[in-house]
Amino acid sequence: MASYLQCMDCSATYPVDRLIYTCTSCGGLLDVTHAWDQSPTRELFDSRLGSLEAPYNSGVWRYKELVYPDVDPSLIVSRPEGNTNLYHTPRLAAWVGVRSLYLKHEGENPTGSFKDRGMTGGVTQARVLGMTRVACASTGNTSASLASYAAFADLEGIIFLQNKQIAVGKLAQGVAYGATCIRVDGDFDRNLALVREVSDKLNIYVLNSVNPFRLEGQKTVMIETLQQLRWRVPDWIVCPGGNLGNSSAFGKGLKELYDLGLIDRMPRLAIIQAEGASPLYHSYLSGFQDFQAQKAETIATAIKIGNPVNYKKAVRALRWTNGVVEQVSDQQIMDAKALIDRTGIGCEPASACSLAGARKLVERGIIQPDETVVGILTGHVLKDPDATIGYHSATLENITPAYPNPIHSAADDVASIARILTRQAEPV
Ligand SMILES: *Cc1c(COP(=O)(O)O)cnc(C)c1O
Ligand SMILES: [Zn+2]
Repeated sequence: MASYLQCMDCSATYPVDRLIYTCTSCGGLLDVTHAWDQSPTRELFDSRLGSLEAPYNSGVWRYKELVYPDVDPSLIVSRPEGNTNLYHTPRLAAWVGVRSLYLKHEGENPTGSFKDRGMTGGVTQARVLGMTRVACASTGNTSASLASYAAFADLEGIIFLQNKQIAVGKLAQGVAYGATCIRVDGDFDRNLALVREVSDKLNIYVLNSVNPFRLEGQKTVMIETLQQLRWRVPDWIVCPGGNLGNSSAFGKGLKELYDLGLIDRMPRLAIIQAEGASPLYHSYLSGFQDFQAQKAETIATAIKIGNPVNYKKAVRALRWTNGVVEQVSDQQIMDAKALIDRTGIGCEPASACSLAGARKLVERGIIQPDETVVGILTGHVLKDPDATIGYHSATLENITPAYPNPIHSAADDVASIARILTRQAEPV
């Protein structure tokens, strides 16, 4: 078999169809490892661009040889995901302080976040294993994605939701796609512990990012970005960090591309956390000598995580890429979001960490002005309308909008409207 599960700590291996999430001998996190006889080529992947045929019409399965080479194509569950745009954004580059900035918009996936790239891998593996029920705990986007992919594959989706602070767009998706929705009176970290316990007991497949098959799908964010750049490697990849599945997957994907000779150098990874949810950042400051979970608080609910499951894999990704970690305030996140939104691209709050973080790293002299930066936008602007409206109407606690677009009110007459449009009236 070309793929197997391997413990990142003790290197123990397990067959790919074994139902485990962590190493049974040491408890370490597992990787899906592929034994390639020969490297697939850039030309092979390029030849599939624009394919109308499943599974190669997907921006994940286009790279099937790197993701899950031996999987039976009839088991693949794909919407199809990926194929997201890479925007060149000169105005935002000027704000960040670099010559060249691209934004890779993972909010353009079928359910509006990068989670779809992982979910196609995870739900496909559920079918490989013959599981009929899949579950996750979620800050919102994983559950939206799971609900969709489970429904699409005719499996039962089960989602554990936090009692509060799930963005309304995400909540609506889970309900709409027909998942069994369970609201639990606990935060994300507690919910994750519960979902693992309950699923063990009831033979349900867990699709949180502890699941290594999800990370195989998520690493294609990097592969697709590099293909879109015609395989020219940028200096920096900047992304938000919550449970650290994405950054872990990016590290693995980049390392594999480099080892296979598909890219000639490694970009540096910058992981950006919210100030109120920054356990990785604090560990980074100690040279990763120390790790302390925290009680998380931030307006960017997608990264409101105090005890990231993939901590160790993220540290490994940072070592492989000579990476850095930075933190940004909710104020900085929301101002950066407003700027991304008003370029017409738009994103949810957590995604704006990429832009706010890149700017901070330029200010600190870590990213150089002549370097090329790719920022990852992780979620769609419609995910969290309350945060957007709250910002522009200046009703968010402790946030003073630097770039507000307040809604004007006019009386029911032309003169009153004309006054606004000739800028004679102040916004009300
Ligand atoms: C899940 C998510 C994140 C955090 O990704 P991790 O892999 O948990 O670090 C960031 N932004 C959005 C929009 C997400 O849905
Ligand atoms: Zn182990």
